[in-house]
Amino acid sequence: MSASHDCFAHDHALLALSDAIALLQTRLGPVCQTEDLSVSEALGRVVAVDVVAQVTVPPHDNSAMDGYAYRAADIQPGQATVPVARRIAAGDPPGAPLDAGTAIRIFTGAPMPPDGDTVAMQEDCQTSVGPNGETLVTLPTHQKTGANRRLAGEDVAAGTVVLPAGRRLRGPDLAMAASVGHRTLTVYRPLKVALFSTGNELKAPGEALEPGQIYDSNRFGVAGCLQMLGCAVTDLGSLPDNAERITAALELAARDHQLVVTSGGVSMGDEDHVKKAIERIGTLHFWRLAVKPGRPLALGSLGDTVFLGLPGNPVAALVSLMLIGRAVIHRLQGRTATPMRRYRLPSAFAFSKKAGRQEFIRCWLEDDASGQVSVQRFASQGSGVLSSMVKADGLVDVTIDTTEVRPGDLVDFLPFAEALW
Ligand code: AMP
Ligand code: MG
Repeated sequence: MSASHDCFAHDHALLALSDAIALLQTRLGPVCQTEDLSVSEALGRVVAVDVVAQVTVPPHDNSAMDGYAYRAADIQPGQATVPVARRIAAGDPPGAPLDAGTAIRIFTGAPMPPDGDTVAMQEDCQTSVGPNGETLVTLPTHQKTGANRRLAGEDVAAGTVVLPAGRRLRGPDLAMAASVGHRTLTVYRPLKVALFSTGNELKAPGEALEPGQIYDSNRFGVAGCLQMLGCAVTDLGSLPDNAERITAALELAARDHQLVVTSGGVSMGDEDHVKKAIERIGTLHFWRLAVKPGRPLALGSLGDTVFLGLPGNPVAALVSLMLIGRAVIHRLQGRTATPMRRYRLPSAFAFSKKAGRQEFIRCWLEDDASGQVSVQRFASQGSGVLSSMVKADGLVDVTIDTTEVRPGDLVDFLPFAEALW
């Protein structure tokens, strides 16, 4: 699947965020090739083919403790001292069935002896020497049948899907893939994203600022966030507000990238050269979302390449990337739709707004003396105030219809960690 010419067309004057995301779900699909990678190289990649268990885990009943294995039915009250017949360590075969009225020294992970069903942990046992020099063990008499025994297959049955296609791999997922016998996994290649910022006022950090100039921060913030989302980013620098230069850069970027992201130059003003450039060589649609912060977003295509034009204001650029860019990227990466998890937490602030627009407020988490977590709001919510993004742990989502948040009200908190995964 690739971006079709008009995949971003719609006829809504104002789009609710949820409708915008639903539209992206239906219009976009995976564009990345697949490759086989060793499990140890696959962290952060998206699984392209269901990972199916090749074996049952654990493959055999085994001991959860260092101790003594026995058959619970053999132990009568007051007759808990039995001979220790042999030992089984992790990696040993289980050996012959247990003889009635005996115990076996066993270690964590060792297979249970046939007919043995219960393990007493060694801290609950006493050993002694019998009349013929044999080792005896006194077992606790209060244990339930099956205590400290892990059953074959209690984690995974062979043949089940342990990691579905569309999942982005976290560390524990690699353990699961390995535990069911996979040496390699079929994953999508990283989405190739080209990024440049636009604006005559932009200077690279390290250069001296002339009057009227600012440092280009978006390129660094957006590139970092794209990398957190698993993209392979090409940084194409910053470009002046010049439609010819921008057109040439877009054409070049589209050639070997699947997504081109820009910042700035896409509002409706005279200096909005990205808009003119895209309209010349591709298609462009403005999405006005019923969301604050967020100027209109530009979505379009350059041949098979998707175009995402982020607003220039630093906070708007980053928040738009989290709210909409993430959904675009997930679709192109082949990921299963993953709505961001929200956490219902009490607000530590008061806030009011008009109905009709969903607002995302930069907030951080605070613990009070009793350990109760609440959400505090950064005082200045201007869309250029980058310090708010640094101080914040995430965004509070104030729904379209809400007009008032009072201290103590439960609010929906979206951690940045969720928004950038
Ligand atoms: P624009 O969307 O190009 O009209 O820019 C909106 C605001 O964001 C202006 O104040 C710009 O100076 C600022 N801005 C645009 N691009 C960047 C950037 N890459 N880094 C920091 N600020 C920017
Ligand atoms: Mg600009």
